[in-house]
Amino acid sequence: MALDFEKEKLIEKLKKRKPKKVLVQLAEGIKQNAGEIRSWIEELGIEVIFSGETCWGGCDIAVDEARAVKADLIVQFGHAEFIKTDFPVVYIEIKDMLDLNPLLEKSLEKLKDYNTIGLSYSIQHRHDIENIKRFYEEKGKKVILSRKIGNVAYEGHITGCDYQGAKEIQEQVDCFVIIGNKFHSIGATLALKKPVFLIDVYDNDVKTMKGLKDRILKQRVLAIEKLKEEKNVGIIVGTKCGQKFGSPEKLIEKLKEKGKNVIIITMGELTPEKIMNFYKIDAFIELACPRIALDDFANYSKPILTLREALVAVDELSWDDILEKGIL
Ligand code: SF4
Repeated sequence: MALDFEKEKLIEKLKKRKPKKVLVQLAEGIKQNAGEIRSWIEELGIEVIFSGETCWGGCDIAVDEARAVKADLIVQFGHAEFIKTDFPVVYIEIKDMLDLNPLLEKSLEKLKDYNTIGLSYSIQHRHDIENIKRFYEEKGKKVILSRKIGNVAYEGHITGCDYQGAKEIQEQVDCFVIIGNKFHSIGATLALKKPVFLIDVYDNDVKTMKGLKDRILKQRVLAIEKLKEEKNVGIIVGTKCGQKFGSPEKLIEKLKEKGKNVIIITMGELTPEKIMNFYKIDAFIELACPRIALDDFANYSKPILTLREALVAVDELSWDDILEKGIL
């Protein structure tokens, strides 16, 4: 991958904000670049500290860490703004400079039966989106970008958990094309009813998500059935500031009506090891990043469900409703 770390933008923002000490958060794949980023910031006479915690998305803003080290600004690399916070944050989104033309050409065969495309992208490809749109339009396709709505930062942008904009346009398009990685296209296929194609910049390939959705949904039905059977249930409330996916009150009431014992657990980063220590709990419902339950379930020895799935288990939602509106 050829990444542009947007050094000029960083310097411009720092000169404007004039912080004394910054806490830098790096997305997981770029933690190796801490050294060069340190020198860019230190050259401006600014003290810099790096967060060693995971940073999976713009939802994950290290406000407590920044306050603990008395930083006056957070600089987050690799994500766009997801939520507003009461702490100053600068987002350096990073550009993937890969020449997408060979992959776009390759996609045409798979897209030959689709006339109108819903085009979405992960943030590193925003700078290229007008070129991509023009490419497909010159090949006779109609291209629609979703609205900026919910937690996305721009028109056409998607995150791993917010597909509201894409849902809005799905009746107008024949399929969706996602420029980015498998994480976003899996989310899209779980959220949307139309076929999803991934321009996979990591594997240098064009992939259909067909088949994957059915496999994941079958597993989710099993998890819901397990929750119905189990007695002791843990509800995990995520403490990362952008990962508030529902409140537990109604769920607790409904679980108790079904005769279950419920405990509430707070957690920042969910890991199988942390969860395993609550060994008397039979099943977990997580109100943090929904992709943990949907993508990482195989790493957990106990069933782990999203809020919407748990609502199906307590008869507050129907599985058909989930299928109709998307599991995400
Ligand atoms: S998918 Fe998860 S990690 Fe990504 S933005 Fe949403 S909550 Fe955050």
